Amino acid sequence: MRILLLLAACLVCQPLLAGETRAIVGAALVDVIEGQVIPDAVVVIRDGRITAAGPAAETPVPEDAERIDLEGKWLIPGLMNMHVHLGLILPGLMAAEHATESDAQLVLRMADNARQSLYAGVTTIRQPGDRRHADIALARAIDRGVLPGPRIVSSGEMLNITGGHGASMGTHYDGPYEMRKAARLQVRAGAQWLKIAISGGIATPVGGIGQGLMTPDEISAVVDIAERHGIKVTAHSGSDHATREAVELGVHGVEHGYFLQRPTLQLMAERGTWYVPTIVVSQPASFDFFERIGSPPWYMARVYEVGQDHWRALEMAVEEGVNIALGTDQFPYEPNDGTTATVREAEYYVEAGMTPLQALRSATLASARMLGMDDSIGSLSPGKHADIVAIEGDPLADISALRSIGFVMKGGQVYRHDWE
Ligand SMILES: [Zn+2]
Repeated sequence: MRILLLLAACLVCQPLLAGETRAIVGAALVDVIEGQVIPDAVVVIRDGRITAAGPAAETPVPEDAERIDLEGKWLIPGLMNMHVHLGLILPGLMAAEHATESDAQLVLRMADNARQSLYAGVTTIRQPGDRRHADIALARAIDRGVLPGPRIVSSGEMLNITGGHGASMGTHYDGPYEMRKAARLQVRAGAQWLKIAISGGIATPVGGIGQGLMTPDEISAVVDIAERHGIKVTAHSGSDHATREAVELGVHGVEHGYFLQRPTLQLMAERGTWYVPTIVVSQPASFDFFERIGSPPWYMARVYEVGQDHWRALEMAVEEGVNIALGTDQFPYEPNDGTTATVREAEYYVEAGMTPLQALRSATLASARMLGMDDSIGSLSPGKHADIVAIEGDPLADISALRSIGFVMKGGQVYRHDWE
């Protein structure tokens, strides 16, 4: 059924030719900057960018525009998911299935995951660590229009220490000299962020999740190289004290944060450090997913170990006003509780105390700000890329309206239109 749907979606792919104009009419526009809804809006798109957006009464539709009628729907910016590994392999049956995967097979699998992510309404992703720079090659192919997929911001390969989280992914580095080399290798390959694994993680059986395994000189070496290149560093961290140390050393973002405590979150809020919770990885909505991919008992024990603390950390982060960008650490389209991981993650943010507007921003404008790309994506504003998703309800009234995604446009090109 899913394959049929995707084939059908491909038939509506209409490249926007240079000089061609489209106008979306009849829908309500969700303005994530002002936090309001404009009923009966018009969005004009030319050369892949939004040239005008506002109430129909004040926003004329150019005569030559191709009209896309989305009456009764709500328009939101394309969703952004800031923690995606398109080449994800988790322990258990999934790892066994991909044990002999070649680079060529990896790239094809990632391309398929990219396509499914886009059809699920996700128009931009950040990849905090994938394999052998396949994500950078894929990002370039998508940018050239060769393959359908979201915009990809990559951090290249994750920088791991021997015996730490992710070390099974291949290369690992020890000491500041090796870290500098490792960081520079990612920059040379085209990484726009750097990712370090400073504590243990769920998916690696060795190294405590709450332990700070990477040393200050290693962390500082990576931050230094990143800053010389004008890029940012994010840290995989389950540990409270490792996070505190990394934030003090100048790390710009924190992933997961299973055991974060209030003083560390207050420090992050003060410093403007970004937090990408990936809350779905430790909550009951994902247990079906772990069963599906055949996760082993030791893995599930680590999931259960962090679940409650992770939830409390998210609640406190919301209370303390920490900058939160949405990320899932699962494929953006992965089924969770009858919707996708991306949408379920946003729902969890509301359950943890965010308003629906804050949750929607975490998946749009806030993520764009974290990437330093809010001049080109993250809201439906003139001048920005026409990355537009349509849904069947008002997400500011109920975030679960995101479950009804039926239209996806990226860069002015329609990739999915279920209501045609
Ligand atoms: Zn991850």
